Amino acid sequence: MKNLILVNGIIITPFEKIQNRVLFLKGSKIEKLISAEEFEHHDESYISDYEIIDAGSNYIAPGFIDIHTHGANGVDAVRDPIDQMAEFKVKYGTTGFLPTLWTAEFDRMVDACKKINNFIKVQSRGSKVLGINSEGPYLNPDLGAQKKELVRTPEYKDYRRLVETSGGNLTIMTVAPELEGALELIKYLRQNNIIVSIGHTDIKIDKMHEALDLGITLVTHLLNAMGDSIQIGGGVKALGIQEELLICDRLMCEVLSDKKGVHVKPTLLKIVLRCKGVENIVLITDSMNMTGFPPGAYSLQDGRKVIIKDGEDTVRLEDGGLAGSVMTMDRAIRNFIDHTGVRLEDAVRMATFNPAKAINFSDRKGEIKEGMDADIAIFDDDVNVKLTIVDGEVRYNTLQQEE
Ligand SMILES: [Zn+2]
Repeated sequence: MKNLILVNGIIITPFEKIQNRVLFLKGSKIEKLISAEEFEHHDESYISDYEIIDAGSNYIAPGFIDIHTHGANGVDAVRDPIDQMAEFKVKYGTTGFLPTLWTAEFDRMVDACKKINNFIKVQSRGSKVLGINSEGPYLNPDLGAQKKELVRTPEYKDYRRLVETSGGNLTIMTVAPELEGALELIKYLRQNNIIVSIGHTDIKIDKMHEALDLGITLVTHLLNAMGDSIQIGGGVKALGIQEELLICDRLMCEVLSDKKGVHVKPTLLKIVLRCKGVENIVLITDSMNMTGFPPGAYSLQDGRKVIIKDGEDTVRLEDGGLAGSVMTMDRAIRNFIDHTGVRLEDAVRMATFNPAKAINFSDRKGEIKEGMDADIAIFDDDVNVKLTIVDGEVRYNTLQQEE
């Protein structure tokens, strides 16, 4: 593998946007970031060990990290081998992701953990699988698009099996804390260093704080699949769990920002931005198996029919309910900018450093800094990805083709 030097791009660290810098990647790590002037006078013999990539005037950012994605390119993370999902995602700048399990039959979820765990050990192409996200099965059956009959009450022997089968790779689990036995589950997950994300829940506010105190740090797609608080009594707006989650500073929040603002209305996205700040929003795709395919009628892994309408990136069930998206991370960034007017570098932060921080990977991923993993995305003003580097290796490149 050649070491790489990236020249002429605009670096998004993502805490700032800087010009006239040259980025050195050595092996699988970021070696250094030096000024263009310094590079002019760099020792020639040293540089001869490197391949130089001209980024044009494109942006050079950390690779995107998608912590909530059920599938793409015909692949479902529960049902199918995931190599084709990894190869698809790398084309859109995603250098790391967590294949995310839908609530399926419990044995199938366990088998999926085993499969992904094995894949992690041998993977050498595409976007890198960083772990597993399990959206359920411990969810409120009345909220979200999961099949009601498949959600479960937490039982130690079951969740221990799921965790042990994942071989240390279960990274996130979404839990509805109102379920009987959920508090014990949350304690067990935290003891095993697994991120607990609150979601698909309709818990009462006082009970919610008791659960949060056990170490919950993340919210699963805030403002989707949660109990609402629109009831008005005596002219007073009810206070609900979503408002509590919005102002709770210790929680990072996944946000689903689709093209038409179907999952979360643009005004609500702006409210999320003001409450959580650029530092606590994690953009996700929540993408389904038909991601990458044209609009039309498809089936989910559990056989239910869904529709993708022309001009949308939202997946709808036949009854009109929402079931995730067909987004890629570049689109999530673009959509969030379109809806909120946030700066490019801030939206990029929500797709790089923030997700890395949410899953405790920010000591090695999500930032352009000496010593970090050499995971890079190069893209234009409109976040069209041109080149992706994973572990210091170019795994997608259309830059040359444009010359
Ligand atoms: Zn999901």
